[in-house]
Amino acid sequence: MALKTEKEELQTIPQKNDCVPLTIEDIGADGEGIGRYQGFTLFVKDGVVGDELIVRILKTKTTYGYAKIESIVTPSPFRVEPKCSLASRCGGCQIQQLDYQKQLEYKQNKVKNCIERIGGIKEYEMEPIIGMEDPYYYRNKSQYPVGRNKNNELMIGFYAGRSHSIINTDHCYIGDKSNELIVSKIREYIEESGIAVYNEEKHTGLLRHILIRVGFTSKQVIVCLVINGKKIPKQELLLDKLLALNTQQEDFVIESICLNVNKEKTNVILGNQIISLYKEPFIVDQIGDIKYQISPLSFYQVNPVQTKKLYELALSYADLHGEEIVWDLYCGIGTISLFLAQRAKQVYGVEIIPQAIEDAKRNAKLNGMTNAEFFAGAAEDVLPQKYKESNGAMSADVIVVDPPRKGCEQSLLDTVVAMHPKKVVYVSCDPATLARDIKYLDEKGYQLKKVRPVDQFPHSTHVETVALLLRMDN
Ligand code: SAH
Repeated sequence: MALKTEKEELQTIPQKNDCVPLTIEDIGADGEGIGRYQGFTLFVKDGVVGDELIVRILKTKTTYGYAKIESIVTPSPFRVEPKCSLASRCGGCQIQQLDYQKQLEYKQNKVKNCIERIGGIKEYEMEPIIGMEDPYYYRNKSQYPVGRNKNNELMIGFYAGRSHSIINTDHCYIGDKSNELIVSKIREYIEESGIAVYNEEKHTGLLRHILIRVGFTSKQVIVCLVINGKKIPKQELLLDKLLALNTQQEDFVIESICLNVNKEKTNVILGNQIISLYKEPFIVDQIGDIKYQISPLSFYQVNPVQTKKLYELALSYADLHGEEIVWDLYCGIGTISLFLAQRAKQVYGVEIIPQAIEDAKRNAKLNGMTNAEFFAGAAEDVLPQKYKESNGAMSADVIVVDPPRKGCEQSLLDTVVAMHPKKVVYVSCDPATLARDIKYLDEKGYQLKKVRPVDQFPHSTHVETVALLLRMDN
């Protein structure tokens, strides 16, 4: 290993393959460690804040570069042994090597920095992040790509970080425990039925992905095979193998088995068509007192334990007393809407995917709720239109938004402001766009009162946040 002398260090910027000492000082957006070598910023995969390392330079740009860990000289006190032996290769987790309390601290700081730097807001209450007591086996949904490697071996697992090569994953520490048994049965089915597995490059073969969804409360499971076609060989064999699990154990019940048709040459996992093989293609789950019917195509939060806390937080920020008219924008299958409807006079939900709105209406019925109405369409179109059509009757005391990562359209925020709600509750999966939108609302008269991050995705760099904004002339 070509370690540089102190003199050389002072004279040169590192070149590819050089090995240099580095102390990790920060965490990057993708969970990588960041250190500075003579003012030159290096991003190091799997580096942990506080690590003293020797790193090998992989690539350099003008002012920064990428390096990998060559050896750990002194491990950070926050470095832990990942539970999963695949953690550093698999793209599913990015920061399993970081102590969980430190992960939470990192996420809280990430939100704080965005609000203060991007949002330019300093005076607000930052409530402590809500973490998990046991941050493992939390996902209710797993999507396993299926393929064959160069040696023609069957691969079922997860993609390696930033790639499409599949790592065989028998046991995933963030997926539900039922997955392992189910995948092992499908593995048997593949071998015995001779079903061709998908080849992404050639766009040939049939079986592309396995999607498993579990109702954490109901213990109902739906298994969905995503195929590049419309039927599978030896369907009975698959059903026999999977349904045998219902008599062999009591931890879960396979409630539904279906196919999803995806014949496109695309990275998008699911197609639009569902074909049932066993029972109706949905399961029912419960969050708090509300029941939800979930199909393979519905958006549904993946961490039910934290989702309950997230929705309770949104509800407490909304502080409803039964008299309010509430809009829930980007409502998905009506999850937050129905939570809010327990305490509001009337809730209106808006969502761009029509099937999700069908689910939302069904979910309202399932819970006997008559004070929630749902509209399909883009929130930025539907909200101004409904508001105008009703001559202001469809007003708002509280508006809740839960947009995708890109945040809200400015035109939507303008309508929100025009509707003059007392409160805006913003549920966000991207603190940068949250901060941008908060800044805009602040300029239009809505003051950020408090913010609380929720850790929906332990061991990843993602963080969910709930923010409360109040109209200043309240
Ligand atoms: N509140 C729901 C869903 C949040 S995810 C829940 O907690 O389950 C964001 C949702 O916004 C997705 O369902 C997505 O389909 C929807 N969406 C994306 N763009 C939209 C738009 N312009 N208008 C309305 N909904 C949109």
